[in-house]
Amino acid sequence: MPAVAVAPEILTKYEPVIGLEVHVQLLTATKAFCGCANRFGAEPNTNICPTCLGLPGALPVLNEKAVEFAALAALALNCEVRERSIFARKNYFYPDLPKGYQISQYDKPLAEHGWIEVPAANGEKKRIGITRQHMEEDAGKSLHEGFSDSAARTYLDLNRCGTPLVEIVSEPDIRTPDEAFEYLTRLKEILLYTGVSDCNMEEGSLRCDANVSVRRKGEERLGTKAEVKNVNSFKFIRAALAYEIERQVEVIESGGRVLQETRLWNADEGRTYSMRSKEQAHDYRYFPEPDLPPLIVTGEFLSETRKKLPELPETRRRRMIAEYDLSERDAHTLTASREFADSFEAAAKTARNPRRVANVLLSEIGGRLKALGLELDQSPVTMAGIVLATDLLDEGKISSKQMKQLLDESFERGEDFGAVYEREKPQQITDALAIEKLIDEVIAANPRQVEQYRAGKTTLAGFFVGQVMRATKGQANPALLNELVTKKLNG
Ligand SMILES: [Zn+2]
Repeated sequence: MPAVAVAPEILTKYEPVIGLEVHVQLLTATKAFCGCANRFGAEPNTNICPTCLGLPGALPVLNEKAVEFAALAALALNCEVRERSIFARKNYFYPDLPKGYQISQYDKPLAEHGWIEVPAANGEKKRIGITRQHMEEDAGKSLHEGFSDSAARTYLDLNRCGTPLVEIVSEPDIRTPDEAFEYLTRLKEILLYTGVSDCNMEEGSLRCDANVSVRRKGEERLGTKAEVKNVNSFKFIRAALAYEIERQVEVIESGGRVLQETRLWNADEGRTYSMRSKEQAHDYRYFPEPDLPPLIVTGEFLSETRKKLPELPETRRRRMIAEYDLSERDAHTLTASREFADSFEAAAKTARNPRRVANVLLSEIGGRLKALGLELDQSPVTMAGIVLATDLLDEGKISSKQMKQLLDESFERGEDFGAVYEREKPQQITDALAIEKLIDEVIAANPRQVEQYRAGKTTLAGFFVGQVMRATKGQANPALLNELVTKKLNG
């Protein structure tokens, strides 16, 4: 079983130091330096041209939308965007990189000095620094399996060549696998809110490498780090880091030396394996890309981009907690995606009582979905249905018991609330005389409560309302019933 947390006795003696490098594919219509479609899942080698194949004489032209998305991400991550950044060639040989180099940025990246706040173990917030965010292009894909002769051959799909990426490099500020998990979760959430990427890890739109080392507590000097690659979920990254920290401490404790190397995570076995030692790694021989001028981001471009920044998740949560009287946890649920938060707020604005919309959504709808193992966006009851339900409740046209029954039916039949309500139109007793008769019976049957009420315990009105509601199986008009009970008891 993979380790999910580092043994506490290790952490009293050693301090892990973790830095993360995250590659994010930008959701542009076309590639970074040519007009080919940037789309996942197309037939292999159909979205390619001389430029992204690196054929002689073909020249790159920078995609402005990619710059806008990269700048938008940088601003959302609190980075300073450099006015003048430089594209550079990163040279290495690999079959899925037909040019023999990747266009990237080296010593003058697009953006630097950002941060993300994560919840820390002590309940406070902790700021994780972002060293840099640079632009680059992706390589193609080597397909090692799935063909009848895969044992002998490797196939290449070059559709991904030249897809625009940003690489976001954190400071080595992360101290535990949990902090790494939180950092990645927040980062993904922020990027999704900006809309610059779909962050789909299965399709490789978001990929993460982790650098991890350990040092004895109190020591300043960093230990030798290992780089963990090929991890395709945040949970696995957390597990891989926990495994790697324990492994490195064991090496040190047994008198050995941690090697600087790249290691791969094997999810089935729950451990990392040495892939190659860093000493043998390529020297990338970076030099400025001669076919592209310096990238100039003007103040005007930046301020236009800033206007496209949405309200970011954490800010939105703070506002919604105040506006809808939510708990921290409920605020997280409602803001899990920007689309969901938007649809909730658009609906709540049209309701008589927006807080009640939040309440019914979270408790009534959320509870029923949870029982079925479904997500909030899989509800048969739409936001409009919830608004209708809460408005009817608010106007006293249905009781909360009737609302619950109608919601039950919605879920049973997979129908929206409005359709069920139109068909069922629950019988309501709105005949004042009939209700008064029932109240009289309840009053006659409970003389002690009447006495207490008249002695000043006015909260007992709720008891009488409840008794009548029970007698009518929840069908008495609640507003009318409340009014009549008060009148009778005071009369
Ligand atoms: Zn192309």
